[in-house]
Amino acid sequence: MADLYTFEPVGVLHSPYREKFGIPRQPGLARHAHAELRLSPPYNHPDSVRGLESFSHVWLLFAFHHTAEQGWKPTVRPPRLGGNARVGVFASRSTFRPNPVGLSVAELLGVDTDHGVTLRLGGVDLLDGTPIFDIKPYIPFVDSQPQAIGGFVDGPPALLPVRWSAKARASVNARLARWPTLDALIEEVLAQDPRPAYQDDPAREYGVRLYDCNVRFIIADGVASVLDVCDDVP
Ligand code: SAM
Repeated sequence: MADLYTFEPVGVLHSPYREKFGIPRQPGLARHAHAELRLSPPYNHPDSVRGLESFSHVWLLFAFHHTAEQGWKPTVRPPRLGGNARVGVFASRSTFRPNPVGLSVAELLGVDTDHGVTLRLGGVDLLDGTPIFDIKPYIPFVDSQPQAIGGFVDGPPALLPVRWSAKARASVNARLARWPTLDALIEEVLAQDPRPAYQDDPAREYGVRLYDCNVRFIIADGVASVLDVCDDVP
């Protein structure tokens, strides 16, 4: 019986997010976070995705593989409550759960079946290399509940304005041939204010790793300023 609950990933997601820092806390907040979900054998047969291209969005069920070994506690401190107040793990979308399973909706930009199966996705909130357990079509009349009440996360987060230094603008422009939406993605990611809830040091320089880039920035007086976009040296 136990084996029925031992899941094998059907594929792996390849996203611009090379580390947890900077990933928005939910999907759709950075629409230019484009990803590829490559299905693995024996799930990568075109028959497995026949008809999927008629849907605009999909649900992804995945493993929080990067934090799974850290276990879980009955209560967590959601960033949305400032990082101090505690709520129950099942009242949160925390990565630290009894079963480290996540659920995200993503925009389905395309289905490629020329070499195996690759889904092109937008707006993901998942780390590069995330194992995917299942894919299901998003069905608006069932899955969308406009009257729903969002508890302590009722509404999207406030966004910061994002400014570019001349150096950063030139650096990102030089990379657009390879990653055409890199500048839009950087703005979406920094507008979320990726800093930990307890940090507000206007002099502190941060780096967020996107694709093969390290985006250097500060946040001061409620404005995110991109200082430079460098090659990433992990
Ligand atoms: N939408 C999903 C859900 O509700 O289950 C994920 C929400 S969770 C709060 C989003 C965060 O998970 C991201 O900001 C990132 O820090 C983290 N994350 C994304 N992919 C991960 C992975 N593969 N392993 C561990 N943490 C991950």
